[in-house]
Formats: sequence, C-alpha cells, structure tokens
Amino acid sequence: MVTKAIASYRMKSLDETLSQLSKEDCQLIAGGTDLMVQRKSPRGAPGRFDKPVVFIDHLKELKQIYRVNQDIHIGACCTYSEMMEHHLIPNILKKAMKEIAAPAIRNRGTIGGNICNASPAGDTLPLLYIFNAKIRLRSAKGERAAEIRDFIQGPRKVDRLKDELVTEIILPEVPEVQPYFVFEKVANRRADAITKISFAGSMRWDEGRIQDARLAFGAVGPTIVRAADIEQKLVGQAFPLNDKVIDGIVAEFESLLKPIDDHRSTGVYRKTVALNLLRHFLEVRA
Ligand SMILES: Cc1cc2nc3c(=O)[nH]c(=O)nc-3n(C[C@H](O)[C@H](O)[C@H](O)COP(=O)(O)OP(=O)(O)OC[C@H]3O[C@@H](n4cnc5c(N)ncnc54)[C@H](O)[C@@H]3O)c2cc1C
Repeated sequence: MVTKAIASYRMKSLDETLSQLSKEDCQLIAGGTDLMVQRKSPRGAPGRFDKPVVFIDHLKELKQIYRVNQDIHIGACCTYSEMMEHHLIPNILKKAMKEIAAPAIRNRGTIGGNICNASPAGDTLPLLYIFNAKIRLRSAKGERAAEIRDFIQGPRKVDRLKDELVTEIILPEVPEVQPYFVFEKVANRRADAITKISFAGSMRWDEGRIQDARLAFGAVGPTIVRAADIEQKLVGQAFPLNDKVIDGIVAEFESLLKPIDDHRSTGVYRKTVALNLLRHFLEVRA
C-alpha cells in the first residue's frame, strides 16, 4: 500500500493555529479518538489523512473553564477527565461523562470533538441541547457564536468554515440551584459502550406549577431531537403531572420520533425505550 506523506502542525498558540488555517485547508485533530478510528489503516500503516493535519489538543487557550456571571464557558479542548474534576461543570454533565468510554478515552476525548463529530449518539449532546449551549468559533478574521441546534446539521456535519475552529462551549444562565435533571444512556453494557438511545430531561416547578421543561433524545434521528412546542405544553401544568397530560406528551413524541434500524439496535427498540424513559421522567414526584 502506498501512503502519501502529509504535513502536520502543532503551533505554539491559538493565533498561530488560526493563521495556519487561513492559509491552508487542514484537518483539525483534538484528542483524535473519533478521527483515528474513522481514518484507520491496516495494521502498521499511518492513518488515512488526505490533507495536512493541525493538532490543537495542547493549546492552553482551548482548555480554560470559567464563569462569567451565570454563564459557564468550557474550552473546546477540555477532556472528559478534566471536566469531571472541575467544580464549575454541572453534576448532570459529569454523570453523562462518567458513562463515556473508559478512562483512557476520557483522558484524550474532548467536548469540542464530541460536538464537531456530530454523532447523534454523542453522549454530551442531549444535555448540551437542554442547556441551550452556544458554540463559539474563531478564525483569523474574527469570532462568532452559534446555537448548538443550528451548529450541528447532521451526522459529522457542522456549520464550520474551513478556517474556523471551535474555541468554547458556553452554557448560558446556569442557575446555582439546578432544576430536576435526568440523563439516561442505554447501551449494551454500563461502561465502554456506544449509545443505542439516550434521553436528557430537565424540569423546574414552583408552587405546584411547571415553570420550565426541556426534553432531548439522542440516537433517534440524524441530530438530537428537541421539540420546543411540545415542551411548551408542559409549562403551567399542575405538578406532579397527571396521567392525561403525561399520555398526551408521550403520544406527541410517539409521532415525532422516527429512529432507524442499524448495527447497534432496531428502530422499534429505540422508540419503545425512548418513550419509556420519557414517561418515567414525567412521572416524577417531588
Ligand atoms: C473506544 C471508544 C469509545 C468511545 N465511547 C464513546 C462514548 O461512550 N460516548 C461518546 O459520546 N463518544 C464515545 N467515543 C467517541 C469519542 O471519544 C468522543 O466523541 C470524543 O469526544 C471525541 O473527541 P476528540 O477530541 O477525540 O475528537 P477528534 O477525534 O480529535 O475530532 C473529532 C472531529 O471533531 C473535529 N474537531 C475536534 N475539535 C475541534 C474544534 N475545537 N474545532 C473544530 N473542529 C474540531 C475534528 O476535526 C474531527 O472532525 C468513543 C471513542 C472510542 C475510540
């Protein structure tokens, strides 16, 4: 097998990295835990990369976690292990990260990589949708931010220009006291397994009425599924929810969710489990 030599860059700073991206179309590599699987060659041969690669995992500008007022900023190259140890990361996200792969992958894999790989089975994604996460991007020309639901467009498809990289993920207006949160991942086993179906929900109530409700499903379509119009039907309902309201919400998602059969599961299994997880979440008592 003939392999073509490619250039690789490991710049000292974010500015130098962005300058390189403005000159040449390059493949960004953060932890490499998705890419090295996707681009793997037969044993002993280098990965199948067809353009210059730029390593970004070491850039300290992409590894900060900090709070500005109520917003939590997470550097795109923070690894799962780093985030799980940081006091600003919400506990529910830590719970989801604990269920990702095994420690070796958690020491390499990054939140930016999980987002930019844009797999509907990505385990941080349902919660990032629930948090209404914003994706901050930079190029040598400037900066912009996008809502996660607009940034992720389909499996391995994100709204990123060739000269841009994701610098931060912002969780806006995270309250000190978290609402009722659930994250459930269903896979072949408890650890080191890829998701067949995932569900994240959050609900806040006060004086017997629902104030806010958010519901997100992973691995039931090309992107994470959230439906603002269905969530809105929960707002103002008496808490705990009665069976009629719960049946109505489950029925709405029954028509909306259209999971497919693939090598990990069947559409019927995914839909059944997704609706069971939703019902269980909605049946919460204080
Ligand atoms: C054994 C194994 C088990 C796994 N288990 C799980 C699991 O349980 N749950 C789960 O969700 N995932 C799992 N994964 C997938 C993977 O570990 C995660 O998706 C991880 O977060 C990817 O991050 P990374 O830094 O390694 O991404 P990389 O492989 O470096 O990059 C992935 C993609 O994102 C792009 N990218 C990365 N960072 C940026 C950035 N800052 N700006 C723009 N583009 C960027 C890259 O160019 C590439 O296209 C597993 C992988 C392996 C190998």
